[in-house]
Amino acid sequence: MEKRIVVIGAGISGLATAYWLEKSGFEVALLEAKGEPGGAMETQIEDGFLIDFGPNSGLETTPLISQLAEEVGIKDEMIYANEEGSNRYILKNNSLLALPTSPMAFFRSKLFSLPAKLRLMQEPFIGKSEDGYYQSISEFVTRRLGREFLDYAIDPFVSGVFAGDPNKLSVKSAFPKLYRLEELYGGLIMGMIKGAKERKKRNEQSKQNAKMFSFKNGMQTFPAAIANKLKGKIHYHSSVNEIIKTDYGYKIVYTQNGERAEIDTPRILSTIPSHTLSNKIKSIDSKLSAHLAEIFYPKVMVMFLGFNKSSIGQKLDGFGYLIPTKENKNFLGAIWSSTIFNNRTADDKASFTIFIGGAKSSNPLSENNDTIIREVISEFKKTMRISEEPLMVKTKLWDKAIPQYNLGYIEHEKYFEQFELNNPGFYLSGNYRGGISVGDCVKNSEVTAKRIIES
Ligand SMILES: Cc1cc2nc3c(=O)[nH]c(=O)nc-3n(C[C@H](O)[C@H](O)[C@H](O)COP(=O)(O)OP(=O)(O)OC[C@H]3O[C@@H](n4cnc5c(N)ncnc54)[C@H](O)[C@@H]3O)c2cc1C
Repeated sequence: MEKRIVVIGAGISGLATAYWLEKSGFEVALLEAKGEPGGAMETQIEDGFLIDFGPNSGLETTPLISQLAEEVGIKDEMIYANEEGSNRYILKNNSLLALPTSPMAFFRSKLFSLPAKLRLMQEPFIGKSEDGYYQSISEFVTRRLGREFLDYAIDPFVSGVFAGDPNKLSVKSAFPKLYRLEELYGGLIMGMIKGAKERKKRNEQSKQNAKMFSFKNGMQTFPAAIANKLKGKIHYHSSVNEIIKTDYGYKIVYTQNGERAEIDTPRILSTIPSHTLSNKIKSIDSKLSAHLAEIFYPKVMVMFLGFNKSSIGQKLDGFGYLIPTKENKNFLGAIWSSTIFNNRTADDKASFTIFIGGAKSSNPLSENNDTIIREVISEFKKTMRISEEPLMVKTKLWDKAIPQYNLGYIEHEKYFEQFELNNPGFYLSGNYRGGISVGDCVKNSEVTAKRIIES
């Protein structure tokens, strides 16, 4: 078969896979609906503020990230989080309490009551569970660590990663490494101790210690640099409408700058969101279409705020804060963007990125919802003890932000494999498969590229 492939979607998943395929001798054509690369990785620089509307950072969980950055010529633009960005705060009773990072700090912390601390000590004596795929992260954590730990540690963490609902996310699908600690070692505390010993023997680093990275000019630098290497292969303003199976392979019908166009290909890799792909492959497999449509993506509004540093009463010595659902506030948390990385603003300014909405929210978010915007700013100013109005307010509404690996997700995963077996040359990828983080998308892109090359 000719070494030809059409990749759909120029987010990090599509670009990284296309890059590795091209490098191994494939003739690649990439179709992207928008006029620029990056998908969820979107950066703007305005009035001296650097704004990341998608991920503000990534975790360097794989050496592939810096290898790829090196190959596309931006290794020297890669930056790492400042030491002072390492504290993480949780909002409790309107106060910011640091998340404890050592056993000693945990016992001293005001974040948890004494009964909650004692309950945690029972964890090593709690047995294994049966089925992680159909167990919510909420059930898992309550059983192992107690209700208060769920409410004041895991619930805000789940908001920070997935903007998700802990009662609905499957522990094994959404947090496979956490579930594996129970599966392999019988418990979380035992798993952490034994895991650390084994890593030490193998001279490896824990995933929790992975370094937080970005780029001098923001996260979009990464996809933009990969796209630069694929110059001439990427067709922007090219939105795929339908994919049809043919004797040759597949026919892709798309709209390019408003005109209908078609392309025949022996191989196709889709990296577009599942809900978008769903109605484009109905004629090939209506069951796959239904599986893809079932994956829920909640709305998330990202609000960027810039202030004069002198007007901020709160000490800026952390990554930011997350808000437990129990605290009943109108947003999920705030990243202290200019504390984490240098050069996000002028030295006398500070910037923050706030996340509103998510899977548990009943807030009817819309693009210019002034009431919500005003309420969130007022609440944020109170917590951070800010005396002036923001110099910069920018919002972006992600109508379908992040795929939720909810209970039953495993059935989707199994069907994706079945679909690929039934339709040789058709590959499914993107952040609804194999992890949502930038690091996971890069790792999965390499796996997908290898699968395609080897087939
Ligand atoms: C608000 C937000 C905050 C996040 N924060 C973090 C974080 O802090 N750390 C982290 O690691 N991850 C974070 N993530 C997750 C991470 O950014 C994404 O999972 C990842 O970037 C997804 O990459 P992708 O290539 O799989 O998909 P996408 O980036 O969604 O790319 C898909 C591409 O397909 C294109 N497309 C769609 N439909 C069509 C069509 N019909 N035809 C052609 N092209 C089409 C889109 O325009 C897009 O460019 C965040 C995500 C969001 C939304």
